[in-house]
Amino acid sequence: MAIPSHVKYLIIGAGIHGLSSAYHLAKNLRERGKGSGKDILVVDKGGIASGASGIACGVVRNNYFQPAMRRLMAHSVSIWESDPEAYSYHPVGYMQISPEVMHKDVAQIAKEQKEIGYESVFIEGEADSMTYMKGLLDDWQAKGITSVLHEKRGGYANNRASMYGLAKKAESEGVRILTGVKVTGMQRDNGGAVKAVETDRGTIACDQVIVGVGPWVKHIWDMLELPNAINIKGRDGRTHENVPMWAYWSLQEGTLGVDPKLQRTNDGKMPPVIHVDTDATLYSDVDGSVVTDRLWGIYYKPDFNFGGIQGGAMPYKIETPPDEVAVDPYGPDSPDFIVGDDFAHMWCSALAFCQKRFEGQIKVYKKEPSGGIGCFTADSFPVFDRFCENAYIIADSNHGYKMIGVGKLVADDIVGAGSELLEPFRFSRFAEGRLHPTSNSPFPWS
Ligand SMILES: Cc1cc2nc3c(=O)[nH]c(=O)nc-3n(C[C@H](O)[C@H](O)[C@H](O)COP(=O)(O)OP(=O)(O)OC[C@H]3O[C@@H](n4cnc5c(N)ncnc54)[C@H](O)[C@@H]3O)c2cc1C
Repeated sequence: MAIPSHVKYLIIGAGIHGLSSAYHLAKNLRERGKGSGKDILVVDKGGIASGASGIACGVVRNNYFQPAMRRLMAHSVSIWESDPEAYSYHPVGYMQISPEVMHKDVAQIAKEQKEIGYESVFIEGEADSMTYMKGLLDDWQAKGITSVLHEKRGGYANNRASMYGLAKKAESEGVRILTGVKVTGMQRDNGGAVKAVETDRGTIACDQVIVGVGPWVKHIWDMLELPNAINIKGRDGRTHENVPMWAYWSLQEGTLGVDPKLQRTNDGKMPPVIHVDTDATLYSDVDGSVVTDRLWGIYYKPDFNFGGIQGGAMPYKIETPPDEVAVDPYGPDSPDFIVGDDFAHMWCSALAFCQKRFEGQIKVYKKEPSGGIGCFTADSFPVFDRFCENAYIIADSNHGYKMIGVGKLVADDIVGAGSELLEPFRFSRFAEGRLHPTSNSPFPWS
């Protein structure tokens, strides 16, 4: 397909946000009689799902301590539920299993889930938590757990299949998707608005740009000459100056190569996605040594797509953006370096800590590329906002595979209908001190 010289809406990135925005914007324009998918072009330097969306674990949950995140996730879950087949979505539910240090935070989440009508069950106390878990999985044995939040909605989706499902929906609305086209620069008019986007295959003039480039967001941010250090008004009312806008974390994930059917509930069903945090000492399942005596967490699910029990553990901060690491984590040769033996040892020991059926299974851990890099904002929450008049940036701070609904809200915002759910995620929150509350979770995304 030739590069057009002009499009009305140019979307950069064929991941969850670029594709969801494309599909919903096309639908929105058609329904309002204001245009169609033919006004929209998606470009991607790789292919569909060649970024974070194509390697994500695919967990869809509502368990967030921040009310604004919870409302946003409830909206996204309803989009996943609207067409589970096309989105390759498995509504098995999700469990947050926590130690006493997180009890109050999770109780608050449970209470607010009730208020917004998001179905969940909340179990409190060590004995009742153990009984509830054993009622579901009879080999449950995790220690140090004093609450269980069981979300009945949510679950997981198959990462690449869902992207292809979205792309098909967008194309059926007339959207064009051009792969192998890398954006290299922005041409701006005297007022600062983007008038054209430069690519390695030519320049495309456009009226509006939507940026959904995942962990590469800083590149486009720099092309738009936006600030890499910002001032943040803290909760104490003091202004913190020159805080870096972007930070990178390495996401630790892997797969235990057992038959996924090994992980069934007592009544033979596919279990919910399990997320466990605890401050109980974690001992090695290999030699009994202490792996950690600090707060730690893991998540896992049986997954036929990954071919085993797939999941991850806490990420760690790194200095390097995705395309500057020794091996491109999103490239075809991918990232043995991202997840090493330390992760496998910790994660497999933690699986055995939780359920007897995983004891001694580290020998079948799959030594294959997994994990990736996430780009986080200054407060680790998303920024969804318009910059330079006509450049809409979707920077999800690595919260975002589950956020399939954000593209719909962005589409509403772009056609002028506004979006109340996106308001708490504007860039101005940093300077104005409208920050989201933070929790006691060991993960930067909870
Ligand atoms: C290992 C891992 C596991 C994760 N698990 C989960 C999970 O279970 N649940 C969850 O909700 N989230 C998860 N996430 C986070 C989630 O994957 C991301 O937040 C989300 O996929 C980002 O979507 P995106 O559309 O912004 O970016 P991406 O999916 O990264 O897509 C961006 C696209 O932009 C293209 N691009 C970049 N720069 C350019 C350019 N200059 N020109 C043209 N194209 C460009 C890329 O090729 C890419 O295809 C995980 C992330 C990782 C790394």
